[in-house]
Amino acid sequence: MSGILFNKIIFGPIHSRRLGNSLGINLMPEEIKLCTFNCIYCECGWGRTSEVQYNKLLHADKMLPVLEQRFQQLHDSGAIIDSITYSGNGEPTLHPEFEEINDYIIRLRDQYFPHTIITCLSNSTQLYRDDVLRALKKTDNPLLKLDAGTQSMFNIINKPFHPIDIEHITDRLCLFDGKLTIQTLFLRGYNDDQKVDNTSEEEVSAWLQRIKRIHPHTVMLYPIDRETPEKNLTKIDKAELETIAVKVREMGIKTLIY
Ligand code: SF4
Repeated sequence: MSGILFNKIIFGPIHSRRLGNSLGINLMPEEIKLCTFNCIYCECGWGRTSEVQYNKLLHADKMLPVLEQRFQQLHDSGAIIDSITYSGNGEPTLHPEFEEINDYIIRLRDQYFPHTIITCLSNSTQLYRDDVLRALKKTDNPLLKLDAGTQSMFNIINKPFHPIDIEHITDRLCLFDGKLTIQTLFLRGYNDDQKVDNTSEEEVSAWLQRIKRIHPHTVMLYPIDRETPEKNLTKIDKAELETIAVKVREMGIKTLIY
């Protein structure tokens, strides 16, 4: 698999355009991406397996002392951290102890960096689990992915390893009562001889219908920014993203372009 993998449980802080000084938390293995999706634009590269290899995940009891030690070091060195951010090699909420780890990180944050927000970048596929929904609601900044409005474009762009119903994901996103950010990557191109385009009038309209139902407080739109595993993709320019953003703002939703 080409692409960038994170080789630590906790990394940074690194500067993020969206989050400022971001302290990364990687709950996935160091040597492989584990995700329910195989997005054609994933900066970690193509996924190698459709099965979540739970034996490759570190148990919370091994992970928590490492996190605590690093939080203490960063605190003692006077580090400035704007966001503690779950990101890394795949989908963080796949970790079966995600809720427990998140509760612990909230306690560490309160103790060492009380003014720092906790952000979780998630692909939304584990929201069917009540523990994941509960944990994500406890983060300050759930940043949840919704790249398409139709099931067919969702399948082409996100390539879920197992069938996932976009309607069910939308229903679960509605349970945040607007206290979430939706992130959407717009792109065009080809993958496996299939046309990729979530910018067409029909696709944007279907996506807007879902945004209207979810009514997040913020929507983040972004184009491809780094090397992608599928090479036949086109970066959408800012002017086109702005055209889409105007339609979201008409619903009274804050919309940011990156
Ligand atoms: S959801 Fe994120 S980690 Fe998973 S394949 Fe897509 S871009 Fe990669």
